[in-house]
Amino acid sequence: MSDITKLTIHETLAALKNKDFSASELTRAYLSNMEKSKHLNAYITECGEYALEQAQESDDNYLHGNNRKLEGIPLGIKDLFCTKNIRTTAASHILDNFIPPYESTVTSNLLNDGAIFLGKLNLDEFAMGGSNETSYFGPVINPWSKNVELVPGGSSGGSAAAVAAHLCAGATGTDTGGSIRQPAAFCGCTGIKPTYGRCSRYGIVAFASSLDQAGPIAQDVRDCAILLQSMAGFDNKDSTSCDIAVPDYEKFIGKDISGLKIGIPKEYRSEDLNEDVNKYWQMSVELLQKRGAVIKEVSLPHTKYALPTYYVLAPAEASSNLARYDGIRYGYRGEGEHLDNLYINTRTTGFGKEVKRRIMIGTYVLSAGYYDAYYLKAQKMRRLIYNDFMDAFKDCDLILTPTSPITAFPIGDAHMLSNPINMYLNDIYTVSVNLAGLPALSLPIGLAQNGLPLGMQLIGKPFAEGTIFQAASALEEDAHFERI
Ligand code: GLN
Repeated sequence: MSDITKLTIHETLAALKNKDFSASELTRAYLSNMEKSKHLNAYITECGEYALEQAQESDDNYLHGNNRKLEGIPLGIKDLFCTKNIRTTAASHILDNFIPPYESTVTSNLLNDGAIFLGKLNLDEFAMGGSNETSYFGPVINPWSKNVELVPGGSSGGSAAAVAAHLCAGATGTDTGGSIRQPAAFCGCTGIKPTYGRCSRYGIVAFASSLDQAGPIAQDVRDCAILLQSMAGFDNKDSTSCDIAVPDYEKFIGKDISGLKIGIPKEYRSEDLNEDVNKYWQMSVELLQKRGAVIKEVSLPHTKYALPTYYVLAPAEASSNLARYDGIRYGYRGEGEHLDNLYINTRTTGFGKEVKRRIMIGTYVLSAGYYDAYYLKAQKMRRLIYNDFMDAFKDCDLILTPTSPITAFPIGDAHMLSNPINMYLNDIYTVSVNLAGLPALSLPIGLAQNGLPLGMQLIGKPFAEGTIFQAASALEEDAHFERI
């Protein structure tokens, strides 16, 4: 058999059932890829021994016919999910010695379904960033890089790079403002951020609690459906988790899309839209039309306020969530003779620059006198953005947009690093989706003239992940994107 790590999850499951190879052989093959690709810096912590133990259990289960839904599938886990007895850092110095005594709900769902964990994947520190360059453990290299080392996107950059380079069969990610979809687009992978409340946030290191959602990054749409099926579901440990039955997502793959109404938001079509992005957006419209989908122009009038709204609310919640890192209960502790300077030294040296910037912005917009001017206004705007989507969805079932206005850029790019706002602007197509709590998927649609992958985004109504998978699988089939 040729390289078994190149198979998709659905192909791997069939091969494991067919005893073409064992879970142990498969796990060893991924571990060997990881060994050979250390320069990508995709993993923060590898757990090969644990993976091989799990693989042995999977082999026994196949032997006795007790195999579960994801039996023997080797996954990478974004290092923002707490994993019992495995170091969980959030890519921050302040948590670099933290070993959780418990398992997040999403990862425990995956384990219960028989998945194997290969290790913990790199990310932007506390998931704050769009290039994976804010990680305390250094940047991740996009496997599509040729002469120049490129960013994989962020914050789930390790997840997307690992999937693209076959360092795991699939990965978990989290998405607060685009962190699953944008890295998936930069690395030529598929990723879905489900509806807010679809996956439990229990045991995920919090960034902005009202926006954070877990989701999978994988090689194709079907693999995302399979992984999300396992990850999703009600959890009484997360009070924002929704008690709505999870449908069989795989059933939506390949379903006829004729008559499906696809909205194109006119505010997203700007004069300075990148030529390649525009071309593939148009091509996607035509491909969907050929399959009988009906294209409608829709309006999302408050689009221009989405970025400022997000960059007020996300830091506000982050500043509050990160107040718990005081060096007392867990994680890194700085020197200090008194409590005050212990706190100050811990937080000054424990957090990186971007995280501190967000804490400062967040504290500012929440402070007396500025709360009404910034935080409250942003909350009102968030509602208007949600209303825009609900109005648009009166005329369509899905909304099609690009995922990112650009392709992967070089690590250390002066334009991106000179002013944080330049980095924030890349989130233009993704943040409104989180503000409105909607599900959205990014799939690779083709290569730009610079040879790098571009992604298209399909946004759905609340809890309509199935409809997204339906249209995405059609678009995927017609786009013929070639993975690495
Ligand atoms: N790039 C966005 C930010 O920096 C989104 C991050 C995310 O989704 N976690 O906040």
